[in-house]
Amino acid sequence: MMKLILLGAPGAGKGTVAKLLTKMDGSVQISTGDILRAAVAAGTELGKQAQAAMKAGELVSDDLIMGIMRERLKEDDCKSGYLLDGFPRTIPQAEALKVLLADMGEELDAVVNIDVPRDVILDRLTTRRTCEGCGEIYNVKSKPPKEEGKCDKCGGAVTQREDETEEAIGNRLDVYNEQTAPLAGFYEKEGNLLTVAATSSEAVIDAIKERIGM
Ligand code: ADP
Ligand code: ZN
Repeated sequence: MMKLILLGAPGAGKGTVAKLLTKMDGSVQISTGDILRAAVAAGTELGKQAQAAMKAGELVSDDLIMGIMRERLKEDDCKSGYLLDGFPRTIPQAEALKVLLADMGEELDAVVNIDVPRDVILDRLTTRRTCEGCGEIYNVKSKPPKEEGKCDKCGGAVTQREDETEEAIGNRLDVYNEQTAPLAGFYEKEGNLLTVAATSSEAVIDAIKERIGM
């Protein structure tokens, strides 16, 4: 069981690493991006509030995100550990999470900062494709689905995300540098930051295992 935050730019591989880790020990992946995309697809009130910001590659408001996470972290499946993927994303979210975890009497094992060079990120994001059904991640160059446009796992449509146009990607990276990158300093002060130069997801997993003694 592990409780981790996965930090890193869009395309750093947070989701891929989280999925591999959940298979190892039963912790759940909690991706605020996935929760928001599901809400947009279902046309809920939350989805309506988040949609415009997401499409432009801007952040959704801290209040909206904290409302989601306050509920999500109280669900039963979190008792077997969780991997926070894409949350927190701003200093106010990190501060609010700190208070929330203290209230719940919980402590994180580590905050993993996945460090990937910008040119690698740009290349990955423009070639990334995502299953609309189950969220499985593909890549047109390195990991295409067996049948073009169709998910190997669930048969869903494999498409390019709306926020993965070149313009939105540029915006997401700027937003990351301005609002999320400072979290590394925040968690360094808290004393639980683990920075990994991510050559591969395996390298990231190995560094995490070593840190938490698995
Ligand atoms: P990325 O690949 O950019 O990490 P995500 O799937 O994590 O993408 O998030 C997609 C979009 O959802 C973000 O660009 C943002 O609009 C919104 N979002 C997700 N998580 C958060 C968060 N913690 N705070 C604010 N906005 C968020
Ligand atoms: Zn699928």
